Amino acid sequence: MASGRDAASVIARLIERARTVVAFTGAGISTESGIPDFRSPDSPWLANRPIDFDLFVASPEARREAWRRKFAMDDIARGAKPNAGHRALASLVAAGKMPAVITQNIDGLHQAAGIPPDQVIELHGNGTYATCLACGLRHELDAIRTAFEATGEAPTCRHCGGLVKSATVSFGQGMPEEAMRRARELALACDLILAVGSSLVVYPAAGFPLLAKRNGATLVILNREPTELDCMADLVVQGEIGQVLGPLASPSPATH
Ligand code: NAD
Repeated sequence: MASGRDAASVIARLIERARTVVAFTGAGISTESGIPDFRSPDSPWLANRPIDFDLFVASPEARREAWRRKFAMDDIARGAKPNAGHRALASLVAAGKMPAVITQNIDGLHQAAGIPPDQVIELHGNGTYATCLACGLRHELDAIRTAFEATGEAPTCRHCGGLVKSATVSFGQGMPEEAMRRARELALACDLILAVGSSLVVYPAAGFPLLAKRNGATLVILNREPTELDCMADLVVQGEIGQVLGPLASPSPATH
């Protein structure tokens, strides 16, 4: 186990020696941006029983409740900006060291830190927009919110009349096939995987660091508390993500 500055330099050395690095991120990387994670004490995400996919589809009242909760969470996350952890990973992508980040997050902060969207593999979708469940048309949240606040009704698609849902993967909803395929490919291609800010209990997502490790990659777990997979890791770093990864970020062009 390592901590603090030592950890940063050990991780930097592992990255330097690696051919292909992949990061696997969870909600913990965004807490320093002001977005609460899922399982820490007082999590607003756990205040209510989740609305699973089948219930969302079957029940108008469940859809209204899902949208009420969605907008309440958006108010908590409003204005969140990428932090030192997001920037450090963006530096590794920009340097050509990391082909992509595999993330469970739905907040879009990896992209906001400068990682091209096609290099962010979102296993649980994206909460910054919505899609029609029938035709797939993208819908913007501002327009949905304005209409929802005026009518109290959950949105339907202007194109086909289908149900519109935040573009995230709900409990009971199928995983996105292309993201799963790419994540698997990367897990098998990397020789170093950094699991950052995830309790590593949500499957199938948490299977990717495990797959990489079993395929011979070095597994580093960075989290402020123990995780389910610490016993599998080559290096466990207990610390705050921004503090540990921050030194890996290259200075932004504006500071030159
Ligand atoms: P989790 O809440 O289960 O685990 C987060 C882990 O990060 C915890 O072990 C916590 O101790 C640690 N952590 C929090 N802040 C940290 C910090 N600053 N430094 C070091 N460690 C820190 O999250 P998960 O494993 O990603 O699973 C939760 C699910 O909820 C995911 O599927 C995700 O889709 C969703 N979710 C996403 C967001 C987001 O997009 N930001 C937020 C909440 C939940």
